[in-house]
Amino acid sequence: MTRLYYTDSFLSEFDAQVVDLVTAPRPAVVLDRTAFYPTSGGQVFDTGWLEANGTRLRVLEVAEQDDRILHYLEAAPANLAVGVSVRGTIDVPRRREHMQQHSGQHVLSAAFIRLFEMPTVSFHMGDEACTIDLDTKAAAPEQVEQAEDLANQIVMEDRPVEIRFVSLEEARRLGLRKLPPVEREQLRLIDIRDFDLTACGGTHVRSTGQIGAILARKVEKVRQGVRVEFVCGGRALAAARRDRLALNEAAGVLSAHIWELPEQVRKLADEGKAARKQRSELLNELAELRAARLLEETPETNGFHVVVKVFPDRSLEFIKLLAQKLARAEGKRAVALLGAGEGSPALVFAQTAELPYDMGALMKEALAASGGRGGGTKDMAQGGVAKVEMIEAALERVRARVR
Ligand SMILES: [Zn+2]
Repeated sequence: MTRLYYTDSFLSEFDAQVVDLVTAPRPAVVLDRTAFYPTSGGQVFDTGWLEANGTRLRVLEVAEQDDRILHYLEAAPANLAVGVSVRGTIDVPRRREHMQQHSGQHVLSAAFIRLFEMPTVSFHMGDEACTIDLDTKAAAPEQVEQAEDLANQIVMEDRPVEIRFVSLEEARRLGLRKLPPVEREQLRLIDIRDFDLTACGGTHVRSTGQIGAILARKVEKVRQGVRVEFVCGGRALAAARRDRLALNEAAGVLSAHIWELPEQVRKLADEGKAARKQRSELLNELAELRAARLLEETPETNGFHVVVKVFPDRSLEFIKLLAQKLARAEGKRAVALLGAGEGSPALVFAQTAELPYDMGALMKEALAASGGRGGGTKDMAQGGVAKVEMIEAALERVRARVR
């Protein structure tokens, strides 16, 4: 089986013969030669098409299994059999994009080695970004910037990227950045002129200029070292564009320049926190005053006050506070049957601890006819109803119970 991409990363169309057909678990074809790259070494598989006897079949995924390359197809191929000739076409934009990420990884990994002796221990290519894991305890932001600068300098110098095949012995003599874990007689080397020499089976650009910009996106500590997320070429452009749109939108909302956003956002967050604190203090004070006035306005009968009131413009939070203030007012005893209309319509019942009623039971009774839900303890209960108009009726249902 010949891997055509080994010697030519830019070959996108080729002729081959079917050597095997796989039916389970998914339909797949094995060819005598292929330009399709199977997922390996951190680089993701190619997609594309196989054409035979006038029918085009979509290749959804390509994987390597026991030294065979399986081309997984969208549907079982009715017109394919062992020995049939096919024409393969790979999805070129997808491959080019992968080559940019993969070649960019070689350059970035070499930059971390050259500057700080931080070796790359793993590479991952995701749908949106790639990551390398560096074997180091820490990488300072300035170090990441310096590696990023050197990588982009190598890109701008447009250095040739060549494929070489050497023996293992020769490879050892050449001093590779990374030797493959498996011992092979022949090694495939990727040579970025006078910058990086490494053994790799992936597909690469012809010269570093084809990689485009290399941008670090995120640096985080992981178990095996430091993970650097990065994007190259087309992905770098897409990521920068998305950042710009998001930043411009945020800056528009705040009528600020994008560079002022961190400061402005921090200021807003602080203001929000202070405002919430102030609001809760004011609400508490208001509840205190309202409770005192309500007790004054409501005559005492049988030694306690019964306060029944609906607040259409107040929330559950407020009537809860108010109910507590009423029930715990100094030197007074009270039952509070309150309703609130703001947000989800709600009811709160409370009584001074020594009074004999059961707020939880009263709440259930009040809500029974309206289909609302609620409950609580002997001294405090809360519930909700579907509409504001139901509050009044619910209160009426139980006010006569408290005498
Ligand atoms: Zn490579």
